[in-house]
Amino acid sequence: MNHNLFAALRAGFPEDLSECAVQTADGAALFYTWRDLELATAKIANLLESLDLPVGSRVAVQTEKSVEAMMLYLAVLRAGLVYLPLNTAYQSTEVEYFIANAEPAVVVCSGRNFGWFSKLAFTAGTAHVFTLNEDRTGSLLQRAAHHSDQHTPAVKSADDMAAILYTSGTTGRSKGAMLSHGNLLSNARTLQSHWGWQRGDVLIHALPIFHVHGLFVAIHGALLNGSKMIWFSQFNAVAVAARLPEATVFMGVPTLYVRLLAEPGLSAEACRRMRLFVAGSAPLLAETFKAWRERTGHTILERYGMSETVMLTSNPYSAADGERRAGTVGLPLPGVVLRVMNERGSTCAVDDIGGIEVRGPNVFSGYWKMPEKTAEEFSTDATGQRWFKTGDVGKVDAFGVVTIVGRSKDLIITGGYNVYPAEIEGYLNDMPGVAESAVIGTPHADFGEAVIAVVVACAGASPDASAMVASLKARIANFKVPKRIFVVSELPRNAMGKVQKNLLRDEHKALFAAA
Ligand code: AMP
Repeated sequence: MNHNLFAALRAGFPEDLSECAVQTADGAALFYTWRDLELATAKIANLLESLDLPVGSRVAVQTEKSVEAMMLYLAVLRAGLVYLPLNTAYQSTEVEYFIANAEPAVVVCSGRNFGWFSKLAFTAGTAHVFTLNEDRTGSLLQRAAHHSDQHTPAVKSADDMAAILYTSGTTGRSKGAMLSHGNLLSNARTLQSHWGWQRGDVLIHALPIFHVHGLFVAIHGALLNGSKMIWFSQFNAVAVAARLPEATVFMGVPTLYVRLLAEPGLSAEACRRMRLFVAGSAPLLAETFKAWRERTGHTILERYGMSETVMLTSNPYSAADGERRAGTVGLPLPGVVLRVMNERGSTCAVDDIGGIEVRGPNVFSGYWKMPEKTAEEFSTDATGQRWFKTGDVGKVDAFGVVTIVGRSKDLIITGGYNVYPAEIEGYLNDMPGVAESAVIGTPHADFGEAVIAVVVACAGASPDASAMVASLKARIANFKVPKRIFVVSELPRNAMGKVQKNLLRDEHKALFAAA
């Protein structure tokens, strides 16, 4: 049996290949049929095969988001090679690291970056460099045009590598998570049934395609179900709100929901056909969850996952399975086993906070060329089961519902006491005039670390730092109360909307150095 992920996605295409598969929503409104996807991916796959690359060769891609870039991803799967997407924000020094680490056989970049990109690639021993631009120009498609539009997907086993996703590296050096055809397909199938994908669904695709959310969850979901995508090369709140009436599914990081809420065009009427709003990749504020429900009549479904595992947990889809609860990431998906471990290596009691570990068919095999890191981040239990330590800190309640409290590296230890930033952020976010907050630890001569907070004010509000401290002191243990609160206009975020606490820690590291 062929476990090639492309073959499974292809099997989801509708019978009538002349139907619209993707419609672009910005720039010229282009219309791609399922046949276009079928034929173009065959041509690119044939081009790749003509290069006679060794099995397992990596194809590293840093291009702007376009339907052709998605076709390239599908063609790499189809040809049985390994796809390696790179964040479009990465500059040459960052790309240099990835190319040196991954040693791709092929790289594809934007024409405007060809000069430095090809130099880096050739230096690292990459033999083939192609270009691909947003306007469908570039050597990749030119060369592919000369190849046949017929292609049989390469035969792959479930364990064969399909993609390497480098972690966003908000703590330390980026690591390449190796994901197999089996990892990706099992997760896509689970989500297809769990989220009730149905005939006639239309997905608004407004996420980047170098990350697990936009590349895997969104694209696989639509293709596996033969569902049309309305395709945004960049998120634009006005334009997305204008297309909501045609759609049934939307997936976004929390920042996208916040930006849509600021858009007057967002209304219950605009969402009348919508079936599902999915949020994840970073915590969704309870306030956003509530505001969304009041404004649109829809309850956002928050899910939790990561590059190494694709999706792990989800709030219920169907009301019969329970309600979607703000601030929680729901129950483990079918097939995913999740446990919370304490520092002594035993399982935490209900509601006790600890490190989240997981296993399941979706969990990656390890980090590319980093056997020691891989060994550190997996543990084997007495029955021989291998668990991945997610690095997330959280708890599970009596109903099995999971709540994420933070990253283990964000845990603050002050005077020997553990402080979980999410707890303090929750109190701060509930205060009048506070839009959001980030709590971090900074080096402190006496306490080891001191708790401080960086708070973003709501439009027109100016929350007072000492009043916030006083209010916290009345409610929580003193060691948890921030020693300083800074009010700022926004928090530093990466492309996926994650707050970059490492940058905040750097900025404030000297605050108490001499205390
Ligand atoms: P990435 O590999 O870039 O997708 O990052 C994965 C990390 O994002 C996880 O380990 C979590 O720390 C965080 N994350 C993903 N989804 C959620 C969520 N719904 N709530 C809180 N954190 C999340």
